[in-house]
Amino acid sequence: MNKMNSEDFLHLLNNDPTELVRKAGIKRERKHGKQITFSRNIFVPVTHQCRNRCGYCSFVSDDSNSWIFPDAFDQLLLIAKNNNCKEVLLTLGEKPEEKYQTAKDILRKLEFQTTIEYVNYLCEQALEFHLLPHSNLGLVSYKELQMLKQTNASLGLMLETSSIRLMNEGEAHHHSPGKNPCLRIETIENAGKLNIPFTTGILIGIGETWMERIESIKVIADLAKKYNHIQEVIIQNFNPQKSTPMANYPPPKEEDILFSIALAKLILPDEVSIQIPPNLNRDRVIAAINHGANDLGGISPVSIDYINPNLVWQEELDLSEELHQAGFSLVERLPVYPQYEKYLNTRIREIVEEFKANEEVSTSKD
Ligand code: SF4
Repeated sequence: MNKMNSEDFLHLLNNDPTELVRKAGIKRERKHGKQITFSRNIFVPVTHQCRNRCGYCSFVSDDSNSWIFPDAFDQLLLIAKNNNCKEVLLTLGEKPEEKYQTAKDILRKLEFQTTIEYVNYLCEQALEFHLLPHSNLGLVSYKELQMLKQTNASLGLMLETSSIRLMNEGEAHHHSPGKNPCLRIETIENAGKLNIPFTTGILIGIGETWMERIESIKVIADLAKKYNHIQEVIIQNFNPQKSTPMANYPPPKEEDILFSIALAKLILPDEVSIQIPPNLNRDRVIAAINHGANDLGGISPVSIDYINPNLVWQEELDLSEELHQAGFSLVERLPVYPQYEKYLNTRIREIVEEFKANEEVSTSKD
């Protein structure tokens, strides 16, 4: 499988999809058995302001009232703690201070130069509460990654696609300089150089071809093999949302989603988890698992999915029951996978150890 190039994978998809799915299922089962993992988290949208304008995004907003300030953040941390969450997922628009004077003013009042510095401060707060931050900040420089490594259990940046074509006029990323795949690959690569446990993924159905999809997965696979820092790859399906430029764009077909999962499982190294958001795959969670997925990402008992607010997460218990009926078990994990704990500083590792001592989180060594 490792010797196959993109054309070979495309050929397999077009000529023998049954074999593709069979191989992906075997590979998942060999590595993960019947365990399907998730992380219990609180989702914190630090700000909806963003310098980009992706065609499918309903998260972005000009509204400067969308910022979450330290006092409110502390309240959220308390709620998270009281509801047994372990992960604080910080998601926000990219570098809003480059576009909005209001964002600059807010940061100045908070005494930070950049939004990334502010998020780093919030991560410090989360660590004070003995919670594990996982931040998605968009493009981040090497120096910023060095700083964030000290306050985050893991970091995330979706590659989404390696196709520069999608930045052309009329395409999904035309108004999003931060979605330049070369720059995103650079951030993921720098995280690898710094041994930062990392989450990335692809977004399918935003105008890319099958070959571009395969190429995107291969780019991630190459980075994973070179740096051994990518713990999970999300296969996220485009979800058309009202009031966005792509509101009337057709969502990807079910077979596109499932075959993308199978291809990711086959192309990526064994130890990389394939993650699907269960709220985006409500009626096909088991099918996704049978095509190679083994992780359901963050599920929150206390917050909504702010990226896809129209799609609620299934209750943990219901999901667990659904998996049980199909012969799988739902197992909680932390935002850092066991094999990457060695990358963490002492302070964060101690919090990980506390959780392990107190709770039944997945500690199986991959
Ligand atoms: S998807 Fe992310 S980068 Fe694109 S506009 Fe929305 S918040 Fe900004």
